[in-house]
Amino acid sequence: MVNHLNKFEEMKRKLYLLILPIIISALIISIFFNADNQGFNHFVIPLLAGVYSISWVLIYKKKLFFYVEYLNVILISVLHLLKVFDIVYYEMVVGKSITTGNATFWTPLVFAFIFVTLKGRSSVIYSFTLWCLTIAIGLFYWDEIPYYASESLVHYFLSNFVYFIFLFFSRHIISAYTKSEMLEKIAYEDSLTSIANRRMVYLWLERALKKEQPFSVIFFDLDHFKRINDEHGHIIGDKALVEVALLVKSMLKESDYFGRWGGEEFIILSFNREKQKMIELAELLRKAIEAHDFPEVDRVTSSFGVAVVQSSDTAETIVNRADDALYIAKNNGRNQVQYKEV
Ligand code: GH3
Ligand code: MG
Ligand code: MG
Repeated sequence: MVNHLNKFEEMKRKLYLLILPIIISALIISIFFNADNQGFNHFVIPLLAGVYSISWVLIYKKKLFFYVEYLNVILISVLHLLKVFDIVYYEMVVGKSITTGNATFWTPLVFAFIFVTLKGRSSVIYSFTLWCLTIAIGLFYWDEIPYYASESLVHYFLSNFVYFIFLFFSRHIISAYTKSEMLEKIAYEDSLTSIANRRMVYLWLERALKKEQPFSVIFFDLDHFKRINDEHGHIIGDKALVEVALLVKSMLKESDYFGRWGGEEFIILSFNREKQKMIELAELLRKAIEAHDFPEVDRVTSSFGVAVVQSSDTAETIVNRADDALYIAKNNGRNQVQYKEV
């Protein structure tokens, strides 16, 4: 019994919970509204409706998820082959039908189902084998199939193959998207605090300067952090850094940008050019860090440097000016805010 589902399986579970009722409804509609449900359809449609309903309940209750999924793939594959046989032999050869009928709307779903359930190469091998078997059924009766029916059958086989190729590539495309999103996250996010890293901050600075947006930079550095590490160890030091990042983030506006410059140094970009407002914000943050109750560390203080962007500034000059202000704050005894004019 599988009760604990990981994120990927939870997503699949939701997909089945959503899709199965639609399929069950379609099957029930064919039971009640289709007068000529004979032969294959006569037993297969109620059987499918029953199996899917039981599957839905089991999936909903998070019971036997793994078995339900795999059993369904096998069941659907067998029924798919039986249905193709039904279309080719009973409907086309015996019944002289010239089209593949309503089933064609649904049967390509078998490939989607396989690609969602099976991982990696097994889904490709499995669905390709299934497709080859359907072709084999068609070829076996080829000479007996009416001329116009063969055209419809060729369309059916080709469209199924297109579904197969499409699913194969879309899986690769989606996984490439996911990978690039992940790489971007790694490239621009600080792994310890989960806020932006220096690379991201540089992009923000360049973007704001290019758009000639007025903004200010607040640079801050934790005081005597080496001492905290020496006294409590690196792990506690790391926790304090995470705590500072969370605290400051919670006090900033949505429009403010916040990143870790490196080590115990952080940077804020605020789209405000009022010197006094920026000094007040830095003062607020300084007091909040000083007053914060850090687990296992008695007290953490920090020094702040503030600078307002000028038209002649580059990313380097504005950061340097805020850094110079921070340096003054350190030299003046730490735990304070300083501002540097151009
Ligand atoms: P100051 O008040 O002058 O800034 O003194 P400080 O001790 O904070 O400054 P210093 O530059 O001498 O030391 C910075 C310390 O920050 C040294 C380093 O061990 C620590 N540090 C930098 N990055 C990390 C980190 O990711 N985790 C931990 N635990 N410590 C870090
Ligand atoms: Mg420091
Ligand atoms: Mg430092």
